[in-house]
Amino acid sequence: MEQYEKICEIGKGSFGQVSKIKRKSDGKTLVWKEMNYGRMSDKEKQLLVSEVNILRELDHPNIVKYYERILNKEKQIILIVMEYCDKGDMALMIRKLKRDRDYLPEQQIWKILAQIIYGLFACHRRKEGNKILHRDLKPGNILFDAQGNAKLADFGLSRMMGDQSQFAYTHVGTPYYMSPEQISEQKYNEKSDIWSAACVIYELAALKTPFEATNQIQLAMKIKEGKINRIPQQYSDELFRVIQQMMTQNFEKRPSVDDLMMHPQISKNIKENF
Ligand code: ADP
Ligand code: MG
Repeated sequence: MEQYEKICEIGKGSFGQVSKIKRKSDGKTLVWKEMNYGRMSDKEKQLLVSEVNILRELDHPNIVKYYERILNKEKQIILIVMEYCDKGDMALMIRKLKRDRDYLPEQQIWKILAQIIYGLFACHRRKEGNKILHRDLKPGNILFDAQGNAKLADFGLSRMMGDQSQFAYTHVGTPYYMSPEQISEQKYNEKSDIWSAACVIYELAALKTPFEATNQIQLAMKIKEGKINRIPQQYSDELFRVIQQMMTQNFEKRPSVDDLMMHPQISKNIKENF
């Protein structure tokens, strides 16, 4: 902990405070996320530790890089040190676009979609057993670095919130990005991440979530019905078609990351950027 100097607080998330920090050895700006494990069960603590260990292995340009974890037993907190993304998250981007009544150029949407798929590719392609699922894709978990590249954050951290845990209660937002299989309480799988990614890209284009509702039951019904309005007319049929495919009700028929990487626009954007 002494290796870093806290600069300022960036935000408060569902898991705890996020702060901008400076590594004293070389002045590099990083962030740490503070999580209190005092109220977690032993099982949750174990999951947290194993999850963080997995994250350390993920080294990919579209995943927020994790540096280390620091355990403070006295205060019962774990600090996760990671890459700093100074352009903020996609929720902020969407808020600004809405405020300015502005829309992103289609090319930029394809680029962000390609980068999200590429980030998911690094996790989903791993061998059975240590596959990593995101489980909580939402605009607030997609960050942008100084070059404007999209990076997935909070990878897998949501797995530790068992349904009955103390932890889960602090995390109940409106589940706009939830897939039909999650609603019908089938197992969460890698295709559920694809559904959520589609909802996020839809929102980036339309500046509203694909399914709007005033309560969770109504939302669940709309998701299972699956009817969505077209994204604004300035966007191509092809962009809308890919979003619709990614929102196929039956997850077995929904495209995988490998399928999506073969899409000309997606593969082109991945090649151009790396
Ligand atoms: P949430 O639970 O809503 O996902 P987080 O705890 O992940 O919240 O993050 C809280 C805030 O900190 C968000 O506004 C997010 O944009 C910001 N943040 C999180 N991680 C980083 C990072 N690596 N770089 C820059 N900002 C970050
Ligand atoms: Mg987050």
